[in-house]
Amino acid sequence: MTFNDSEFGEVVIRKNAWSTRPKFSVATSGKLTISAPPHTTVFLAKRWLNASRNEIRAKLPIKDPSTQRARDAAKKHLMKKAREYLPYRLEFWATKYGYKYSGVRLSHANTRWGSRSSSGTISLNIGLMKVPEPLRDYVILHELAHINHMDHSAEFWAEVESHDPAYRRHRKLLKQYSPGV
Ligand SMILES: [Zn+2]
Repeated sequence: MTFNDSEFGEVVIRKNAWSTRPKFSVATSGKLTISAPPHTTVFLAKRWLNASRNEIRAKLPIKDPSTQRARDAAKKHLMKKAREYLPYRLEFWATKYGYKYSGVRLSHANTRWGSRSSSGTISLNIGLMKVPEPLRDYVILHELAHINHMDHSAEFWAEVESHDPAYRRHRKLLKQYSPGV
């Protein structure tokens, strides 16, 4: 049995008839294995894993904790930059084109650059701080246009185009980047 963990990646559960309590081991490849009693379920293994994160981190090859630390630091830095920039940029474009939104949220999801909730909150990914400004503006204008159009209809794209005439190119270029930190 295996499952995926956001920090450790693929985790292997190896059932062992002689095992009375879970034992974690890390292969030289960095892959984590849990040796566990036969009745172990994925649910149970995940609970053990959550309770033992520090113990497991200590077993990881040295390069992994520092990679994690570097990633944490990068995320923190990006969040700081995003907080000082994105809400103001959003407000700038909203004011310029007369859009009303109820709030802004900064996200760090791995898959989306932005979204708009039905309550009118606009979410912007902090990863936008890594992309060139015209692409960043395209995402903001895209989400603002969703205030008037919930879908990706021709009317929606016409509205995006009226504010960002080069949106087709910006949209294509954006695919070269990933929102994940
Ligand atoms: Zn959209």
